[in-house]
Amino acid sequence: MNHWDTPACTGGMLSFFLLWPLCLPVDAADVGAVKIQAEFPGGNVLVSENQGHSVHVAPDLRGDSPWFYWCFEAIAIQAGRVDFVFPEKVAGFKNGAIGFQGPAISLDDGETWNWMGTDNVEGSSFHYDFAAPDQRVRFAVTIPYVQKELDAFLTNNANNQHLRDFVLTKSRNGRNLELLQIGRPGPDKKAFLVTARHHATETIASYVLEGFLQEAMSDTPAGEEFRKRYVLFAVPFVDKDGVEEGDQGKNRKPHDHNRDYGENSIYPEVQAIKDLDKMQNFQFALDFHCPTLVMQDHQVMYFVGAKIHPQYNFENVSEFAGWIKKGLPPNAPHGPLVWLRDESDPSPKNSRYFGFKDGAIMAATLEIPFAPPGRATDPTSCRNYGKVMLQAWNNTHFRAPAIGQE
Ligand SMILES: [Zn+2]
Repeated sequence: MNHWDTPACTGGMLSFFLLWPLCLPVDAADVGAVKIQAEFPGGNVLVSENQGHSVHVAPDLRGDSPWFYWCFEAIAIQAGRVDFVFPEKVAGFKNGAIGFQGPAISLDDGETWNWMGTDNVEGSSFHYDFAAPDQRVRFAVTIPYVQKELDAFLTNNANNQHLRDFVLTKSRNGRNLELLQIGRPGPDKKAFLVTARHHATETIASYVLEGFLQEAMSDTPAGEEFRKRYVLFAVPFVDKDGVEEGDQGKNRKPHDHNRDYGENSIYPEVQAIKDLDKMQNFQFALDFHCPTLVMQDHQVMYFVGAKIHPQYNFENVSEFAGWIKKGLPPNAPHGPLVWLRDESDPSPKNSRYFGFKDGAIMAATLEIPFAPPGRATDPTSCRNYGKVMLQAWNNTHFRAPAIGQE
């Protein structure tokens, strides 16, 4: 996908030469020791300079608000050390471009990823020692989770009799939006909606959601117990186009997907979720997110939402959080903390839409940190946290609003 703005590059030879570092497509920025490219799902980078053993890179905002998502491939032209330098004081970088576990790295074309650690990080730069010409290494601000990861999950579970998958709608750019159903509706079942990637960047939340879904459809006692009481619906990629195209997503203009639950939704995905609610009448809604990258307060798991919408939301979320905390291993991120507030933010978010509905029992956003220092947020650990959360859900004594008090 090429997101370069061409009009500025067509103003004649003079402006071409004046502007060339900004106008150069990334795959042609190859005068240094590496070539840089981001033409793959989830790819995102702006290269402003690529000289010798130093590459100046930044998140490509594509006309949207400053944020920190980037993901690119470097192909060595020669062996040796290369510095990747992010801007330090550009607007939007107050949130940082490299998290507390360093960049994420893949040595197998994006098949598997690890956090690289911080040994190679200095300020807003990191370096990598390329072993040989043609070595290809992918780097990203977070461990990616795009369509191919979801497809692998669905393929692994293709024979699971408790899982059904549907196309809920089409995105603006014509992609299918997955809707997963686990369990069957019935007179004793309550409908429960889980969502992720209202903000495309927030990949770590997807690994936790995967673990939650896996346990919900499993034949373990927890899975069976869950399906006796709930029918679960999941929309794993609310901003489907943003996920695949590698957009920032957060604070997208004129508003992002999680501010689209007002009267006139502008995104087909959000409209389709509202329509689905009319059919299923969700009483529970849990929306998985990740917070900012390096803010101190955001290095823990935490719940946000309205304290008394639904009536016992705070009590319900607090009990749920307590069970999660009990089940998490010691190296998990701290929390989850319960930061539900009195109704102070009227913006039409998912948690507000489902929290203020008649008949709702619990509605909240769960924030999972990207890479808190010293805590595990690799895919395997995050899937395990999701499994712990499903078990915690079973243990929670959800209290429904008194009739007439909804
Ligand atoms: Zn978010």
